[in-house]
Amino acid sequence: MKNPLQKEKALRYDVVIIGAGVAGLYAAIGLPKHLKVLVLSKSHPWECNTYYAQGGVTTAYNDADIPLHVSDTLEAGAGMCSRDAVQFMSEQSQKVIHDLMQRGFLFDTDTHGNLLYTQEAAHSRNRILHAGGDATGRYLHLFLLQQNPHPMLSNATVTDLLMEDDKCCGVEVFSEGSRKLIYANNVIIASGGVGSLYEYHTNSHAISADIHGICLEKGIALESMEMMQFHPTVFVSGSGARKLLLTEALRGEGAWIVDENGYRFLFEYDERGEMAPRDIVSRAIFDYKQRTSSPVYISCAHFDKEYFQGRFPNIYKALQDLGYNLPSERVPISPAFHYSIGGIKSDLEGRVPNTKGLYVIGEAACTGVHGANRLASNSLLEGLVFGKRVSETIVDSPATPCVGKFSLSTISLEMDEDKEKKDRLRRIMWDKVSIVRTQEGLNEALRVIEEMLNSEVGRLLKLRLLSARAIVESALKRNKSIGVHYITSA
Ligand SMILES: Cc1cc2nc3c(=O)[nH]c(=O)nc-3n(C[C@H](O)[C@H](O)[C@H](O)COP(=O)(O)OP(=O)(O)OC[C@H]3O[C@@H](n4cnc5c(N)ncnc54)[C@H](O)[C@@H]3O)c2cc1C
Repeated sequence: MKNPLQKEKALRYDVVIIGAGVAGLYAAIGLPKHLKVLVLSKSHPWECNTYYAQGGVTTAYNDADIPLHVSDTLEAGAGMCSRDAVQFMSEQSQKVIHDLMQRGFLFDTDTHGNLLYTQEAAHSRNRILHAGGDATGRYLHLFLLQQNPHPMLSNATVTDLLMEDDKCCGVEVFSEGSRKLIYANNVIIASGGVGSLYEYHTNSHAISADIHGICLEKGIALESMEMMQFHPTVFVSGSGARKLLLTEALRGEGAWIVDENGYRFLFEYDERGEMAPRDIVSRAIFDYKQRTSSPVYISCAHFDKEYFQGRFPNIYKALQDLGYNLPSERVPISPAFHYSIGGIKSDLEGRVPNTKGLYVIGEAACTGVHGANRLASNSLLEGLVFGKRVSETIVDSPATPCVGKFSLSTISLEMDEDKEKKDRLRRIMWDKVSIVRTQEGLNEALRVIEEMLNSEVGRLLKLRLLSARAIVESALKRNKSIGVHYITSA
């Protein structure tokens, strides 16, 4: 792909989009070709959480299902969702799915061409569409990359936002070994969540909360940062930083969680057993492991082999490569960090409040649709709905170009000891700021983070540390458990 920055005039854009996941790409697709748009991705184009999504995309099944989808989402969110945001997302869901299909995207269907809707935990009916069996994210991401009519620059890390008072005038980018300024009338943050802050996580390595850190530096509000979701069924024994997630749809379609003796202990914690919301299942597994020292497994032994291979081909193949013969053989699992519910505060039009020309969508944003806990498969939907919304907002808003000039920063992006400090940060976040939190543990994490912030660190680590501190500070402010935030005095 040609580097769009090679032409000197190209350094001024109508819109720059930070991130090429579902949110950034669907926003790009909604922006007309006459606008000069540039999409940035930090690593290879496919290195994003969207690519790794497995289970599917939620949609209201039909108009009559909207109130039920809304109430399921509100219930999962433990009373902390924005009702307006949830209502808006559900009402728009059939439209974005229809748009994708009109453009040629193929969701899985039965032999008669009827869409196959699956079930996931805490949904009161089948309403999740999937593609490629368990490869929804990969199929959707490739499709959106193909549909995007605008230039894209990969391996380009945004290292700063160019702010002139409350107006965002563009970004500073590190690309091809040097820093560059890219001016833009509108900047859309679609940079995803915070996965790399944790030792065990399911996220792409490109997801490390850089832009959250930049926002904190600029005094831009983050919201609900204590709300971090952990996935209960992750194969964490693998060697890579990103751990293999075993989709929620497995439990939705009948997989069991068992101990060494095949005992389904989840019913001791919640009468819904495997179908309880994922935070309850995560905590139950965490507690049961600690209490009994028994390893915990996911068992699909009662699935028909042929059905399993067809419905979950990627999980089947990935685990076969790791030496597991599914569905007959059980697989050891543990919870791991999965999804950032909190994020950069956004309004219903995708704007970052109290700024001009700055927008945020997708997992980077806190729109209020997830409250204190995200309903499974609502996040790809959120990316689509608010990606579309922000493109409409930008098209309808008069641009206010910036007048100021900015200079390139000279601060080192990385320093020699950063790797060691990054690992220390990941460990303390996992040990003290994950599934079960205590005031004492959070204070210890805060002390370690402050200590590292007061030492000499490169810019990228500093941004991670600022984001981690925001998570810990938010968690300390909420001394009662709610949703995914579980705090005990023990
Ligand atoms: C393993 C896994 C399975 C999942 N399964 C499902 C599912 O079945 N259904 C569902 O609804 N959700 C699922 N999710 C969650 C969902 O995939 C994500 O929430 C969603 O894809 C986020 O999309 P996004 O566009 O906001 O961010 P992402 O897709 O993560 O994209 C972020 C983009 O920002 C770029 N970026 C980041 N920082 C910078 C920077 N400093 N400079 C430049 N670019 C930057 C990245 O390179 C990337 O292109 C899953 C997540 C994971 C990890």
